[in-house]
Amino acid sequence: MNEAMQLEFRRFGGSRVGPKLLITAGVHGDEYLPMLAVGELIRRFDFDDRLERELRGTLTLIPVVNRCAYRAGRRVGDDGRDLARTCPGRQEGTITERVAYALSRQIAEADFYIDLHSGGTELCVLPLAGYMLHANAAILQQQRKMACVFGLPVVWGTSAELQGRSLSVARDAGIPAIYVEYLGAHRELAELSNGAFPSTDHDHPLLVGCLNVMRHLEMLPGAIQACEDQQVAEDWRAGSGHMQVSHPAPTGGFLTLKVKLGQRVSCGELLAEIESLLGGEKHAVVAEQDGTVVMLREYPRINEGDSLAVVVENGERS
Ligand SMILES: [Zn+2]
Repeated sequence: MNEAMQLEFRRFGGSRVGPKLLITAGVHGDEYLPMLAVGELIRRFDFDDRLERELRGTLTLIPVVNRCAYRAGRRVGDDGRDLARTCPGRQEGTITERVAYALSRQIAEADFYIDLHSGGTELCVLPLAGYMLHANAAILQQQRKMACVFGLPVVWGTSAELQGRSLSVARDAGIPAIYVEYLGAHRELAELSNGAFPSTDHDHPLLVGCLNVMRHLEMLPGAIQACEDQQVAEDWRAGSGHMQVSHPAPTGGFLTLKVKLGQRVSCGELLAEIESLLGGEKHAVVAEQDGTVVMLREYPRINEGDSLAVVVENGERS
């Protein structure tokens, strides 16, 4: 066993019959709010006797899956591979392949799975819960429900064909699973410096979401805290949900955004301009469809081909 194969986790419950839920963060090494949310869940179950007593089933919590990337403060580990494109990995592979293998084994042991992400160092994502449009109707319905009860403003169902992700492993094993995106870039740092964790006045939305799903799965008693204004969109096109390829930058340079996260835009509307610091023409990037801006690269430098924004067609409002 090498280090990568031994994911550091905590497990709670097991004495009362119920489902096995796995919650992970840090599949990417620079996504900090989700790691802290899982850390806070661990503290709650450590110090709140009532929570532990009331828990049905088993809760497994992994705050930092990709420790190699985390130590480097980067999205990916030393081998440059994206863990979310490498699952199910290989037992005798590179560092990221071995972590993917270990993570995939943890997922296969679960009955339900939640994978928490943020936009990392450069991207900012409107808080959303997503799922794959699974071919099995019962699994799809459960995933929809889990994503809705998580309670974030956007619920987004996308292509079930994407490979290499933690959710691809869950899909193939028939395990209902959702992923969550919560801000990123400077907004994540702002929440951290404003004392998001440990949350005292009110629970952080990531914490509320995990507890909501546990209540929905009847692992905990109590009422689900619903989201009052939630937009639900499902995009059945092949490749939908792949954020890293949406609105690619035509050139590298200095990025000036012309829209805000959460803004509604029309097809053809200017999203951003990219300029070279050596002068010359600015390059415009326009929206490829109508919808809501759910992801923006909120970072001054952009490289050619980098995804600049994701626009999701407006779905039903609850
Ligand atoms: Zn991520």
